[in-house]
Amino acid sequence: MMPGAPALAQAGVAGHPVSVCVLRDDGAMSAARLIREPGRFDCASTQHALGPGDYWALSEEIGERSTPERPLSIRFASVWQKSIALDILYEDGRIVRVPADPRGLTPYIQLGAVAEIRLPPAQARVMRLLWHVEGSANLRGILLGARISTAAESVEANLKMAAMYAAFGGLALALIIYNLALWGALRHRFQLWYCAMTAGLLAYAFSSSGALAWVWPDIANNDRMRLNYLWLGLMGGAALMFARTFFEERVYTGRLGRVAEGVAVLIAAAGILVYLAAPVAIHAADLIFTSIFVGLTCVVVPTLWRAWRLRSNYLWLFAIAWGAPILTAILRMLGNIHLLPWNFWLDNSTVLSMCAEAVLSSLAIAYRIKLLSKERDAAMRGEEAALRLAETDPLTGLLNRRAFLEKAIGRPGDQMLQIADLDHFKSVNETLGHDGGDEVLRVFARVLRQVAPPGALVARMGGEEFAILSARDEAVEPEIVLARLRATRMPFDLQITTSVGTCCGPIGTEVDWKALYRGADSALFEAKSAGRDRVRNAPAREAA
Ligand code: GH3
Ligand code: MG
Ligand code: MG
Repeated sequence: MMPGAPALAQAGVAGHPVSVCVLRDDGAMSAARLIREPGRFDCASTQHALGPGDYWALSEEIGERSTPERPLSIRFASVWQKSIALDILYEDGRIVRVPADPRGLTPYIQLGAVAEIRLPPAQARVMRLLWHVEGSANLRGILLGARISTAAESVEANLKMAAMYAAFGGLALALIIYNLALWGALRHRFQLWYCAMTAGLLAYAFSSSGALAWVWPDIANNDRMRLNYLWLGLMGGAALMFARTFFEERVYTGRLGRVAEGVAVLIAAAGILVYLAAPVAIHAADLIFTSIFVGLTCVVVPTLWRAWRLRSNYLWLFAIAWGAPILTAILRMLGNIHLLPWNFWLDNSTVLSMCAEAVLSSLAIAYRIKLLSKERDAAMRGEEAALRLAETDPLTGLLNRRAFLEKAIGRPGDQMLQIADLDHFKSVNETLGHDGGDEVLRVFARVLRQVAPPGALVARMGGEEFAILSARDEAVEPEIVLARLRATRMPFDLQITTSVGTCCGPIGTEVDWKALYRGADSALFEAKSAGRDRVRNAPAREAA
């Protein structure tokens, strides 16, 4: 019989439990005799206390019929062992043997990494099951979680497992794609570590669920479990690097940052080491594996403590995200050192808790990006303000000379430059005082801004000298400037006038500017000489 091909996928916690007693194999025992001698088996000792080696495991009396209409299966946990054979004793004395497979449990693996062996249907009731386990590492036990289930129970449980793992797989894949795309736009290092972590989770879920054994039926079950260790180690390292790069740098100042990186490398290296060393030293390898969890907890807990003390913005999201993995890491640690009994859900808890972690971390990333973009917006606003400040004259709010030149030179087309210089400003200062003079300058600046056409540059060139630059055909009439100024009420009703010199021409280059300015300045000088409070126009300059 080839019991390997699973007609019905089964997994999870279906059916009812069957207690099992064990006996160390001394190499000279016959299955046919042992299966009828339950008294020789040890039902009292905890299995893992008996150490590694070859074992027999005998079920309690079953007394159920496996029929074609209602076929039964025996299900049990996948643990580290070289091979396993099963003898089934029927009520009529017949023993049917399911022989050992060189791949170990691979042909029987179902979703949830539960082995399931169909009990061949017969008229006689199934009385006892006897497993022969060779090369048991006996880390957690020799034969764990045995349950008898009907096909219907198996289907139901397996469907639930399939739904759960499919949801994990889809979720992990979506998170990876989404965060990779986000990384393309934002380029934060923690996004890549997040993707690495989630990819590790996906790979771990794929191998630890047993799905790998379906896709790759030639793989030995022990090799599949070695891959679990490998992926878990790589995922743990990436998860820690994610935390390391995610928190504000101040959380990791000093030793903690280096310790976190060191432990991340150690965890990943431990995964690789366990993968390589497991075939020859599974006990040492498993110890290293346990230390992966210890190491992770040893860094994540102080990180959270630091983040709390430094009032990190991300603490609560992170604490919630890591709560489940820390708890399951502790529970698994307790399981690995035998303070907690083996349990199906504990065995599958890493996938569940890391999945919760991945989802919550994704939210944490979104929150972090929100804070970062807030910071960026504030920085941009600050930069804009600084730029405005550097460009404006603080007294009048007009462009200063430097900014005016920067914007003016290179303007296309014919321009008109008007230079306005307040008349007898020295005596204004003498009359009003320096502060009064300042007020006059402010009022004059406001007038210029009001009369200048849109698109014109208005600047305070220095002292009480101002400039308006506009396209020639849009320029305000200088006479209007004079008139507006005369009409403007000044402090103490002082009559303020200005002289204006204008010049038209191109302003494409620095040389153009100098020529244009010289023209307007000499026109201004003429206006002053001619008695002030008037306009003079220099002859227009031709474009070169
Ligand atoms: P003119 O009609 O020939 O232009 O005579 P003026 O007195 O206006 O010319 P002058 O260039 O001799 O004097 C300019 C005065 O402007 C001198 C200076 O004290 C004053 N001044 C320059 N900058 C400021 C300022 O920011 N605030 C005040 N209150 N006065 C200023
Ligand atoms: Mg003056
Ligand atoms: Mg002057």
